[in-house]
Amino acid sequence: MAHGDDVLQAIRDAAETIVDSRYVTCLTGAGVSVESGIRPFRGPGGLWTEKGEPSMDGYQRFLRDPASYWERRLRGDSEFGISIMGAEPNAGHFALAELEKMSIIRTLITQNIDNLHLAAGSRSVLEIHGNKCYLRCLGCHTKWRNEDFRVEETPPTCPECGGVVKSDTVMFGEPIPGPVLNRCFEEASKSDCMIVAGTSATVTPAASLPVMVKRNGGRLTEFNLRRSEISYICDVNVYAPSGESLPVLVDEVRKLT
Ligand SMILES: [Zn+2]
Repeated sequence: MAHGDDVLQAIRDAAETIVDSRYVTCLTGAGVSVESGIRPFRGPGGLWTEKGEPSMDGYQRFLRDPASYWERRLRGDSEFGISIMGAEPNAGHFALAELEKMSIIRTLITQNIDNLHLAAGSRSVLEIHGNKCYLRCLGCHTKWRNEDFRVEETPPTCPECGGVVKSDTVMFGEPIPGPVLNRCFEEASKSDCMIVAGTSATVTPAASLPVMVKRNGGRLTEFNLRRSEISYICDVNVYAPSGESLPVLVDEVRKLT
């Protein structure tokens, strides 16, 4: 890896912390997908940094007029939609999937909607902000893969309960669906160690998860490109691209187990 001894030492410290722990979970954000060619929203090079933040009432506008949302969606996709089409998981995603197979990571909580953790083979995944590849019923939370749901009217409605169907992706102003949010808090409350990768965890509710682990006496290991808002509460800080540091973490964990 093209980084100094201090990075390698930090990864070894993280590996020891992780192997020492009883229940390890992981929280990821946009940073883990940058090396897959997906632009983050915030920060340098971010979509919103360049184009301005989107309006904060997307969900309210959807509820007022779901048909026109669907007509726009069926006409073509957003720029973000195009940028994640064809994206492939990177070495960081595969490393996290490997840690689950090694029974190290119990659950991975992600703020990303790009489906790349599932594509890399992670199975115990909680997607706080939904998944771009799915649709969801607002009435009963049933989900369908985009290609499995035939849109015959706008807005489409749920064959189970008649509720309005929208993208599974959580819009601005939309509450995080209760079932996934409850599972996230349940997992964080069980954790005595959390791997925080590719996120500064500034946006709630994700932000409160590592804080919860820390408050319960657990330890946090951070894998971010650079120092972030969460660094000061983390026990180990690894500053490197996660696509490079996480595979090394897998090697170091393997040496200890
Ligand atoms: Zn339904």
